[in-house]
Amino acid sequence: MFPEFFETPLTVSIVGRAIEDGRLRVETADLREYGRGMYRQVDDAPFGGGPGMVLMVGPLEDALAPFEDAHRVLLTPTGEPLDQATLDRWATLDHLVLVCGRYEGVDERVAEHLISEEVSLGDFVLAGGEAAALAIVEGVARLLPGALGNDESTTSESFRDGLLEEPHYTRPSDHHGWGVPEVLLSGDHARIEAWRREEREKRTRARRPDLWERENG
Ligand code: SAH
Repeated sequence: MFPEFFETPLTVSIVGRAIEDGRLRVETADLREYGRGMYRQVDDAPFGGGPGMVLMVGPLEDALAPFEDAHRVLLTPTGEPLDQATLDRWATLDHLVLVCGRYEGVDERVAEHLISEEVSLGDFVLAGGEAAALAIVEGVARLLPGALGNDESTTSESFRDGLLEEPHYTRPSDHHGWGVPEVLLSGDHARIEAWRREEREKRTRARRPDLWERENG
């Protein structure tokens, strides 16, 4: 419903560069163009009553018609929670279609007949799917070959090995009395590696016991 939502974000940083270099192409569609009648209607009141408006199946079907063979994802808080493994999978696809809802959401027949996969960004409710779609575009763009510089990497970051990442510090080593772990200043690479591993495990256990149990339990 709001293609202008994407204008600036698609020009910034990793996503902007990927598009500029031709490694990524992002097209937005305006659902209104597929609306019905003189007022290009795209939503209607829910059957059974209740508040809000529901995006109609017809306009979405028409908007999706050119993409029958593509992987079609519906953004919805009732979908599967999105995770890094899913982004890894999507980053290998030639074509990904992201369907953004608004208002009360989307007529269920869209999910039943026109969609390959339903995902949620997390257990909270946004006003529309656009911010979720942008998060996905950015998460996928940084996985594309050539997206990150040499000193950035996606192999040792959070969720790669079922662990959260360790804490990082940089200069100065003393910021009005706030110090950094001594081991990081020791120059002893074996000790540093052992400390990092330990911190990753400690953090994951403390902050994400669900992740710890699933991956390491
Ligand atoms: N009535 C719905 C919420 C609709 S929010 C409910 O209670 O489940 C409007 C739109 O925002 C949704 O159609 C979806 O596209 C998007 N959205 C909201 N929260 C989201 C989330 N956590 N993940 C992905 N998309 C979300």
